[in-house]
Amino acid sequence: MKPLRSCSAFIISLVIIVVYEARAGHSLSRKPDRGYYDFFYFVQQWPGAYCDSKWGCCFPKTGKPAENFSIHGLWPNFNNGSYPQNCDNLNRNPFDKSKIVGLIKRMQVEWPTLSCPSGDGFKFWSHEWNKHGTCSANVLNQQSFFQKTLDFKIKSNLIQHLSDAGIHPNDGFYRAEDVEAAIEDGLGVTPYLECNFDKEGNSQLFQVYLCVNKLANAFIQCPVMPHGRRCASSVQFQSFSRF
Ligand code: AMP
Repeated sequence: MKPLRSCSAFIISLVIIVVYEARAGHSLSRKPDRGYYDFFYFVQQWPGAYCDSKWGCCFPKTGKPAENFSIHGLWPNFNNGSYPQNCDNLNRNPFDKSKIVGLIKRMQVEWPTLSCPSGDGFKFWSHEWNKHGTCSANVLNQQSFFQKTLDFKIKSNLIQHLSDAGIHPNDGFYRAEDVEAAIEDGLGVTPYLECNFDKEGNSQLFQVYLCVNKLANAFIQCPVMPHGRRCASSVQFQSFSRF
């Protein structure tokens, strides 16, 4: 091939790749691939608020969970606020129970399913792995993804930090800034609070987001706050015993 022709062929190929990547929402410098993310959101939820939501709840087959926060997930995120998801398009690394057999007892306690009909948790955990876990699979394999998430739950001990500040799940209303401050005093990082709103418009503490570094070994200040529904200045901390 003559130099001019091969140069044009190269430029045309480059243009095709750039157009393809742009249309697919990809950036050439950052493939939407497992291992491309900046940090994690570690998300816990309050079961009382989950049950009081429009979709209601069903207790897992293993029984009613304790009155404590439970895990929603560990979600890779980018510093610009966007996030990768479902990163295993070729289904090479699907959720596999056999990789987490040693963790299942703990998962039933700390990461219970609350959706209906009652389940054993595998559907929920599989969803979390396939949607989020696959995007950090270069850093955390399946076993370590679930293990680290469980460990962050214990490390965060939200219920204790809130209790230390006189904040209890008693259907009472608390200032959102006091809830944040109690968690920040306990953990040294600022949480993000997400609320549900009941029929009367009360803001109910639903989920607490904490940020975790890329290697999943420490809480960090969030590089960017999430988009969940922000709480009003006064939040209800619902009792879970009435469900
Ligand atoms: P995600 O896609 O990770 O944002 O999670 C949202 C999905 O998780 C929705 O389908 C929710 O219904 C489901 N979900 C959230 N919390 C729970 C829970 N405790 N039990 C079962 N499913 C849940």
